Amino acid sequence: GVKVGVLALQGDVAEHIAAFRGALADRPGSSVVPVRQARDLAGLDALAIPGGESTTISRLIGKNGLHEPLAEFAGGVFATCAGMVLAADRVDDARVRPLSLIPMHVARNAFGRQVDSREAFLNVAGLADPFRAIFIRAPVATEVGPGVEVLARIPEGIVAVRSGRHMAFAFHPELGGDLRLHRMFLEGLGV
Ligand code: GLN
Repeated sequence: GVKVGVLALQGDVAEHIAAFRGALADRPGSSVVPVRQARDLAGLDALAIPGGESTTISRLIGKNGLHEPLAEFAGGVFATCAGMVLAADRVDDARVRPLSLIPMHVARNAFGRQVDSREAFLNVAGLADPFRAIFIRAPVATEVGPGVEVLARIPEGIVAVRSGRHMAFAFHPELGGDLRLHRMFLEGLGV
């Protein structure tokens, strides 16, 4: 089975747990558990970093002594929205201390105040049909390092990437019931 943790400090934790439970339903012996302290990371194959408020999550990561353990996490990371901000190595907001899991620069709230939320049918590399992407005060990646594969982009910037075992999305694959990106991620773990 596959063991997935969900960083459970703030944000849409329950939605990530439900989505990974769904994606793992056909893999006996798998489990999805909340992560609040460094010891919760032991034995995990993967970790989801949820959407929410990246400045808040960053502060709680520091408070819980999780910065180094997360930055050194050996499994795959599945990061969405605020999670994408945290996974980056450079962020346009000094209140966020990024985890440098993926070499990319991320701009928070990249859609401007007028357009808080939007849906778009996105072509994502590796998927046969478009993905209904839900953007909520979403970031974009403005620049990615070598070895980072861009899976989707829109006029505002890059919104889906893969970097080794890690994947990050500016939108919310954990919402909407389409688990194709979760499955793609789990296949990439090789477990
Ligand atoms: N704008 C938020 C942030 O940067 C992310 C929004 C979200 O996760 N839905 O923290």
